[in-house]
Amino acid sequence: MPDHSPRRRRIVIVGGGFGGLACARALAGAEVDVTLVDRRNHHLFQPLLYQVSTAALSPADIAVPIRRVLSRAKNVEVLLAEVAGVDVAEKRVRLADGGALPYDQLVLATGSVYNYFGHSDWAETAPAPKTLASARTIRARLLRAFEDAERSDDPDERRRLLTFVVVGGGPTGVEMAGTVAELARHTLSGDFRRIDPAQARVVLVEAGPKLLAAFPEELARYAARALERLGVEVRLGCGVEAIDEAGVQLHGERLPAATVIWGAGTRAADGANWLGGTEDRGGRIRVAANMAVEKQEDIFALGDVALLEQDGAPLPGLAQVAQQQGRFLGKELRTRAVPRAFRYRSKGDTAVIGRHAAVYTWGKWRLKGLPAWLLWALVHVYLLIGFERRTLVMIQWAWRYLTFERGARLID
Ligand SMILES: Cc1cc2nc3c(=O)[nH]c(=O)nc-3n(C[C@H](O)[C@H](O)[C@H](O)COP(=O)(O)OP(=O)(O)OC[C@H]3O[C@@H](n4cnc5c(N)ncnc54)[C@H](O)[C@@H]3O)c2cc1C
Repeated sequence: MPDHSPRRRRIVIVGGGFGGLACARALAGAEVDVTLVDRRNHHLFQPLLYQVSTAALSPADIAVPIRRVLSRAKNVEVLLAEVAGVDVAEKRVRLADGGALPYDQLVLATGSVYNYFGHSDWAETAPAPKTLASARTIRARLLRAFEDAERSDDPDERRRLLTFVVVGGGPTGVEMAGTVAELARHTLSGDFRRIDPAQARVVLVEAGPKLLAAFPEELARYAARALERLGVEVRLGCGVEAIDEAGVQLHGERLPAATVIWGAGTRAADGANWLGGTEDRGGRIRVAANMAVEKQEDIFALGDVALLEQDGAPLPGLAQVAQQQGRFLGKELRTRAVPRAFRYRSKGDTAVIGRHAAVYTWGKWRLKGLPAWLLWALVHVYLLIGFERRTLVMIQWAWRYLTFERGARLID
């Protein structure tokens, strides 16, 4: 049990994602008592969620119990609970079940949620890959659409069932569209008798003028071409006006589609609202260079929930940003109550398009095709927590690469 003697600082971390977990790990063995609280019992490797959604990996391949990751850190306790707010004056975190956690220092790392831009009712019809539950929902809907099409005698209904619309041309949308096309064209080919899965229509809809807005033009164009080679229809400058059970309404066009997947934008999760609000449109908590919340020097925020400007621009919502921030803050808080300034060092950005196509950019460096994919695969496997998990994922990818087979094609 952690030693709660008054000499030791009590640090509460809300969120066991990339930022919160890195922070807790960096505090392991320090002369402080740490409580990490998360509403889920597992740390989730979100960058590979689309592979669960498209039946390439199983949920257990990309999630690990937070308690297990921190089992050797005797000064860290892990609580499974939903945080409902912060009582700043009393220095206590309020839990949804009525409990409270006193702190000396608080780290908010609650991440982000998908933004439906004022249409929260679309979330039911167009789920986004964010949690294991939503990835499984998407997987079940994708696979069920092919099953239902096999049973349907109505050609229009078959076409609707075999039309898959992905909304959002950022890395998540590009990854989803590419893998859904591969699922249809390769993995499922030969498995059905009445339909040809390769006839499925995959449409990627992006409101902006290019895919992968954060990437250089040359790589964005390559991504569009690579997707089109996979049979994906790329629609740029195309805003979604409505989504319902029967399909998607685009500007001037109705797309009948049974499966719609959302990947169009995010906003900060709860956090700023606990501290009296924020002026940021994305709902993020503005922090200083040392991650301290403005006018709250005992409270820190990092990862997707935080707005930290570096060289005049906000740091992007990326796993590597959250992880570096968490590790840095944890190391600082081991020995000092006031951390020094953090500086993010990018290791490059990637987006995957298909089985062996990806784009990678780092400063002036540009990589595309198989070399970028190999780099992406190596980095992602390396970042997965847990040795067995890495080995398992590598074996599955190698198998899939050779055979196009997808092991997790179950509808549950
Ligand atoms: C589909 C997808 C693909 C992505 N691909 C990439 C990629 O390829 N490369 C990359 O760098 N980044 C990628 N990202 C972004 C990356 O996952 C995030 O930037 C990163 O997870 C942010 O880390 P975080 O610690 O801020 O939040 P998270 O990792 O989201 O963790 C937040 C944690 O807080 C917990 N939590 C939230 N609210 C509460 C509450 N009220 N009470 C208790 N617990 C709470 C959540 O359960 C969660 O465990 C991707 C994201 C998605 C969704």
